[in-house]
Amino acid sequence: MTTLNLKNFDRLGLREALVARGLKSFRGDQIFRWIWRRGASEVAEMTDLGKDLRARLEAETQIPRLDPSDVRTARDGTSKLLVRLPDGREVESVLIPEGERRTLCVSTQVGCAMGCTFCRTATMGLLRSLEPWEITEQVLIAERILVERGDARILQLGRGEAGKVSRRLTNLVFMGMGEPLHNLEGTVTACRILTDPKGLAFPESRITVSTVGLADRIAPFLEQTKVNLAISLNAHDDEFRSKIMPVNRKFDMDELLRVVRDLPLTGRRRVTFEYVLLAGENDSPAQARVLSRRLQSVEEKIKINLIPYNPHEGALFTRPADQAIDTFQRVLLDNGIEKVMVRRPRGDSILAACGQLALEKTKSTPPRSLPLTRGS
Ligand code: SAH
Repeated sequence: MTTLNLKNFDRLGLREALVARGLKSFRGDQIFRWIWRRGASEVAEMTDLGKDLRARLEAETQIPRLDPSDVRTARDGTSKLLVRLPDGREVESVLIPEGERRTLCVSTQVGCAMGCTFCRTATMGLLRSLEPWEITEQVLIAERILVERGDARILQLGRGEAGKVSRRLTNLVFMGMGEPLHNLEGTVTACRILTDPKGLAFPESRITVSTVGLADRIAPFLEQTKVNLAISLNAHDDEFRSKIMPVNRKFDMDELLRVVRDLPLTGRRRVTFEYVLLAGENDSPAQARVLSRRLQSVEEKIKINLIPYNPHEGALFTRPADQAIDTFQRVLLDNGIEKVMVRRPRGDSILAACGQLALEKTKSTPPRSLPLTRGS
């Protein structure tokens, strides 16, 4: 039998995997809790498992861990973490402290296959999807960094010692490298691990998964986890959207709007439409009016997040002036779109802002086998 990576399953998945090896299903809950609530890094720490069981698990399973190969912090406090994967590839995550908030932006793939013409990650192409644990490890790395920084606030979810969760991050966004719904299974499992009340217990309302608009996967995704959804719209009409986002030739704006209209959003927050503002391309008042008309049918279900473009070397676009950004927002508000926010760039001095993630150089490190953390 192959070695079982205990970090790669949500709680139900872990139960099943252990049952398949002849163990009782409650062991899944027990071990899940050790790893995700109590931060165990080796089976030896799991003192309420019998000696024989521990010995067996030590032989048959692993609890691997990932580490950052580089951490860069911008003047505004935003940090870009370069995370080394077992095969030698790397992804980036971005840690954004802002007042009481600690937000982490995670990657779901190495590179991306979507080919959006304004995005730096697209220049890498898709190398591979991340496994669930490679997504959740980004969270654990960020947690360790916050601890090292003395950011020692621990969240109290219930009463007493048992209610303590060793978690300092308050918000998670799946907006790093890659298209989360192109890695549907990895993203769903990671969300389930992170939101499990027996683990890190992120409220679903504090996690947002952003998609390029893979329309046929949106409903299936939201059936499996109740996190928030963001959709990158980025255009006022199909002609322009197809020009900057190849995905629009497969799923156009009408189809996206239909999916949003049909989503059962009772009790759920609104869907966010992200709109990257590209100077002279999609940022005029006339285009804002076209957009507001187009969105009338879903207005009550959405909010708009305007993202001023973050350029990178060789970029084809530029960021609009602040005044154009304010005007665009004003026109949407005046034309019946009630919720419109502007997301001010963070961390762009270190290429950590939206759409600036990509590896500086593609390294050709030979594949390594999974590192075992036992004893390390
Ligand atoms: N693939 C997902 C998530 C990654 S991109 C998606 O497409 O939503 C996260 C957000 O950053 C998207 O809204 C995308 O449109 C935006 N973005 C990409 N490149 C950007 C750039 N250079 N400047 C500002 N926003 C950018």
